[in-house]
Amino acid sequence: MPRSGSSRGPAPVSVDRRRLWRDWEVLCADIGERRAGTPEEHRAAAFVAGEFAKGGLRSVEVLEFPCLSHRSSRVDLAAREGGRWRAADARILAGAPGCAAGERELVWLEMPEEAARLAPGSLRGRVAAVFGPLPTSARDHRRLVAAAPDAVIHVDERLPFAWTKSDGVYPEWVRRYGMPTTVAMAYLDAWRWRKAGVSRVRLAASVQLEPALSPTVSAVLPGQDPLLPEILVLAHHDTQAGNVGADDNASGVVGLLEIARLLAKRRGRARRGIRFLSFGAEEQLSVGAAAYVRAHLADRGRWGLVVNLDSVSSPLGHWEMYCVGDRALARHAQAALAGHGLAVASKPEVTPFGDIFPFNWAGVPSLWFFRTNTPGARWQHHSPSDSLENVSVDAVARLVGALVPVIGALADAADWPFGARPPLAQRQVIARLGQELFGFPLRGPRAGAGRQSS
Ligand SMILES: [Zn+2]
Repeated sequence: MPRSGSSRGPAPVSVDRRRLWRDWEVLCADIGERRAGTPEEHRAAAFVAGEFAKGGLRSVEVLEFPCLSHRSSRVDLAAREGGRWRAADARILAGAPGCAAGERELVWLEMPEEAARLAPGSLRGRVAAVFGPLPTSARDHRRLVAAAPDAVIHVDERLPFAWTKSDGVYPEWVRRYGMPTTVAMAYLDAWRWRKAGVSRVRLAASVQLEPALSPTVSAVLPGQDPLLPEILVLAHHDTQAGNVGADDNASGVVGLLEIARLLAKRRGRARRGIRFLSFGAEEQLSVGAAAYVRAHLADRGRWGLVVNLDSVSSPLGHWEMYCVGDRALARHAQAALAGHGLAVASKPEVTPFGDIFPFNWAGVPSLWFFRTNTPGARWQHHSPSDSLENVSVDAVARLVGALVPVIGALADAADWPFGARPPLAQRQVIARLGQELFGFPLRGPRAGAGRQSS
């Protein structure tokens, strides 16, 4: 039994770039789009499970959980511009209901600063064009629902392009507060409409949602000491509609597979177990990760640290890391990765838009690695441009090459130089977002809670 990581010496990490690319082609070229609950998503999960098994991991399982699968949709949107009707591209946000065809008045709302205009019933019979970021305030959402618009057109302020992205609405908001028909339109079309003073639109939206099962793949490298908390390494294999998700998040899945293979090849067992999870239905707001956490809450004392790879392959970009945990965790991760040639900016922020969040809610600290190429975002995401042409094998290889020794050293260590829980200020934000977006109990997991159905 090794007494410390040093007895083994640092294992040289040799990332197999050809294998990374082969895995990427299987996910994005052979399988393609992988929307939650579709046969393609199940094929991706079966591929991941097969690779885990081939890599020598144990307890490889495909766990299924319920989701609403977006089967088909159609949106017809047109505006009166320069005296004639002109069609504009629009997509329904997955999870939102459709609406009957009709011509309606268009009301512009700049959010969040104009939320005070949302008086109950004030938008009845009208369509609201909402310009702003993805909404995260349940209070503003409730006001929007109470204003009772016939439909909402979202214009995402982060994406100044001529195309329309695919996105989703929060399932918990639909259940709790209701949801108007919500479609996304292209920023540059909205720009032209606003400048031209467009005030009438024709809109029809139909959508077919079906209850389905989505798969999460779980596999383990067992540790020597089952009493020491494990490291969990995550990615998600599903996509939004209309794209193959080469960066979001086939890049994380191919990185996860390579990390698993390289760690499995190290000599001897580490002290701590390392669990690998590839989630389904992340794009519906981490439905898979939330189902997993709910179903395995009894295990939460064994979850020591979560490491997430989501969108890690921008050729041009910045390495960033959302750190939920104390400053010692961020400092440790930054220094350890820098020792392997990777400089990463740390963002000490809680974000609900990733599979880390349900684990954070369960009290587990996390590091989420990603690459941005526009401030806070990725221009190509959720659009057909998120293709194999726009990814960098080198980027993923660099991350894997740095993470493998860092995760390996953490797995070998009996003690960690950072706190076991996120600090209080982060826990308060997590509790509020967990309730508003996921319907988690505000007080956090009950002591001894577990065996809840997902
Ligand atoms: Zn993603």
